[in-house]
Amino acid sequence: MGKKTIIIGGGIVGLSCAYYLSELGYEVTVIDKSEMDGGASYVNAGYLTPSHIIPLASPGMMAKGIKWMFKSASPFYMQPRLDMDFLKWAWYFSRSSTSSHVEKAIPLIKDINLLSMDLYGDMHASGNLGNFQLEKKGLLMLYKTTKEGNHEKEVALRAKDEGLEVRELTKDQLNTLQPNLSDEIDGAVHYLCDAHTSPNEIMQNLKRYLSENGVDFKLREEAIDFTFQNKKISKVITNKGSYEADDVIIAAGSWSQNLAKKLRLKINLQAGKGYRINVKRPTDVILPAILMEAKVAVTPMKEFTRFAGTMELSGINHKIKTNRVRAIAHAAGSYYNGLEISETEISAAKCGLRPVSPDGLPYIGKTSKFDNLTIATGHAMMGWSLGPATGKLISEIISDSKLSMDISGFHPERKF
Ligand SMILES: Cc1cc2nc3c(=O)[nH]c(=O)nc-3n(C[C@H](O)[C@H](O)[C@H](O)COP(=O)(O)OP(=O)(O)OC[C@H]3O[C@@H](n4cnc5c(N)ncnc54)[C@H](O)[C@@H]3O)c2cc1C
Repeated sequence: MGKKTIIIGGGIVGLSCAYYLSELGYEVTVIDKSEMDGGASYVNAGYLTPSHIIPLASPGMMAKGIKWMFKSASPFYMQPRLDMDFLKWAWYFSRSSTSSHVEKAIPLIKDINLLSMDLYGDMHASGNLGNFQLEKKGLLMLYKTTKEGNHEKEVALRAKDEGLEVRELTKDQLNTLQPNLSDEIDGAVHYLCDAHTSPNEIMQNLKRYLSENGVDFKLREEAIDFTFQNKKISKVITNKGSYEADDVIIAAGSWSQNLAKKLRLKINLQAGKGYRINVKRPTDVILPAILMEAKVAVTPMKEFTRFAGTMELSGINHKIKTNRVRAIAHAAGSYYNGLEISETEISAAKCGLRPVSPDGLPYIGKTSKFDNLTIATGHAMMGWSLGPATGKLISEIISDSKLSMDISGFHPERKF
């Protein structure tokens, strides 16, 4: 057996790290405080998103957040709180929301997304995870207003400059590709570079494959502390015991900041809550789409259609705010003719917490304080898409191999 590696967190990021490390012969243990059957890696929209080249921290976002603070059903919500971590995050977010940051972030986001898309493709081709849904039909950005349309067309031009496959659709082209859209829709941009998946299916298959290939899972076990000396973590302490490790990976999603504090590390994060509604009856949804004005994601998954949305920065909690879920359902009905999401479907909504860094870029890499710790979190709205690339990069860092891409922009100790 190879060196012992402990991964804290069994979401898509932690499991992707386990996948690539176990391929390299490492002895891998995944510790997760939950049953590993819910949360962000299960409720997400399943998009693989080279199209999302603009980070959340971009000009105008702070103003939007403040404007929407008082709207109970807005798609982006920051709950004002006198909490130092939140206030620092908001300050860094505001400082990062500049055009120069966006310009720097674009190639990084694009490269890591394309790497991850290829890796999803390799996983699919390997058959290791069965014949999971991986469809490359692209992503439609549906808009009703000229303002959203113009904004998206600008992003599309930038994406084209980056070599991504994208086209503007006429209304006729759009209606042929996706019938039954409301007449209110003015047009769409089609990002052909994107793909979609069913997260639940991949998570189940990943867990099964990893278990069968020697990865040890400690479920319902919470990492609560560490023992360390000089630059080495010697043990991970949980609520049930302690584990020695040669390498430790923190991939604990929105909880990573609190865990990192135990090591006196500052990893700035906020939980960005999002909701999903599954509609398990036929809908006319053929292509994945983002309903631009409402910021709702629609995905035709393997056995149902998923409607997902909202970015609610209200701390770590899983309270379901029905008015926000209802806003998602309402938006769906206003973009697709005849689509009505029922009260039963609304009441079965689930939520998950995105780990949101202030500049919208993930944290991937080692810190200066420990030689045997790597951080893999902060992926915000792209964690599903970027899971495999993150896992691969982490395995390359730990095994001292050549990196698949330059990751200096993702340094966990970068300044904002
Ligand atoms: C509604 C919604 C839609 C989304 N749509 C998309 C999309 O279409 N495409 C995309 O790319 N991304 C999307 N995302 C974002 C994506 O889902 C997340 O970025 C991603 O799932 C984060 O994965 P993770 O492994 O970092 O965290 P998580 O999935 O949150 O996993 C972290 C795990 O760590 C465990 N943990 C935490 N603390 C401890 C501890 N102390 N000890 C042990 N275990 C611990 C938790 O139990 C959890 O299982 C969406 C998110 C939401 C909410």
